[in-house]
Amino acid sequence: MRAAGSVALIFAIALSVNPVAAPQTAKPAAPPQTEKLPPLSYACPMHPEQFGNTGDICPICKMDLAPVRLDSVWTCATKPLAVIKDAAGRCPIDGTALVQMTVALTWTCAGGTEESASPGVCPDGSPKEKHTALRAHGNHNPQHGGLFFMAADNTHHLEGAYLSSGVFRMYFYDEFTKPQKVAGMRSVKATVNVKDSRTGKDTLYSLVRSGAYLQATIGKRPLPLEMFAKVTFTPDGKDNRFDFTFPAYSKEPHTAPAATMTNAAPAPSPSAPAAAATLIAPDSSLGIDPALVPLPIPDTVPEILAQLKARTEQVGSLIDKGIFAAIYVPAFQAKDLALALDEHRSELTPERRRIAEPAISRLVRSAYLLDAFGDIGNKQQISDAYAKFVEASKDIQSAFPQSAVRNPQ
Ligand SMILES: [Zn+2]
Ligand SMILES: [Zn+2]
Repeated sequence: MRAAGSVALIFAIALSVNPVAAPQTAKPAAPPQTEKLPPLSYACPMHPEQFGNTGDICPICKMDLAPVRLDSVWTCATKPLAVIKDAAGRCPIDGTALVQMTVALTWTCAGGTEESASPGVCPDGSPKEKHTALRAHGNHNPQHGGLFFMAADNTHHLEGAYLSSGVFRMYFYDEFTKPQKVAGMRSVKATVNVKDSRTGKDTLYSLVRSGAYLQATIGKRPLPLEMFAKVTFTPDGKDNRFDFTFPAYSKEPHTAPAATMTNAAPAPSPSAPAAAATLIAPDSSLGIDPALVPLPIPDTVPEILAQLKARTEQVGSLIDKGIFAAIYVPAFQAKDLALALDEHRSELTPERRRIAEPAISRLVRSAYLLDAFGDIGNKQQISDAYAKFVEASKDIQSAFPQSAVRNPQ
């Protein structure tokens, strides 16, 4: 929590440079309360992956769910929260593409320990200080250019990388995406079943531990390469299946030469990161699909429906490409669009409302399932959840008018 203070400051500065309408009669003493807050969610303090509504209890430990304000920020994949941006771009430290992470926002008074989920005023009259902290499960980004998954136990996380040397390597992490200690790796057993796209033949390999990772030499095979791993984390634990599709060899995120030079050079000017970014060749394997960048929710129903359709198709194309860890981005955007449509349901006839209301709640539920299964990386579960998602999305499309039609009262 200590380090979060300076990060929060950077965040506050980043927000303050957002273009704001020129104040004409602004009172200088007024506190800057124009910042838009992310909505409150309710989660278990002990099991941050357990979400619900206010008044719910955690199904695991029965604690009351507590309010949290979660936000999604863009930051460096391997240096969480070193830089915080509100849009896609390049990491000014190593030149790699920025990734999204989930953070928790809290507010405290100077010298106080009590954290609040909303801004406010301290007893001395000063505004509470904002903190930004990485959340458990907030960073599901690969650290070695591979494919990243979470085990169904919500604790173990792993990344599979297919190196150009023909080696398949598996890295293990905790829920904050910190590398697993070697000692904790001794009981992990894994195999990988590799499908040859030309012959259709499967070959099974046992992974061998090498330091903190497991690996097997599976050879250079035609791409895209499909395989599934079976992993047990404890000697008598059950198998966890992870489906990998590698469209290309995995590449370590490289460090920009400019970043190492700045150590000796005087403090970089504000334009230095931009200059460094242009020196780095675009790397498609690390690039952020611009279509995945969140858009503001449109005002009209037909525009919302069009975006919902686009997001529904994006989820499908990510599933086809095997990019399961990114599914949550368009799935959650579709969920937000569906909830925005829910606010327009009073414009519907009663018959249409009977279709729309359950369809919206089905879409919201299947978006959460897609998020959870996307993390876990089991293709069958993901496809099943996607079928429900598509059906709900279609029902929503059919219930709402596609063009601006006035509904007679
Ligand atoms: Zn709990
Ligand atoms: Zn996680």
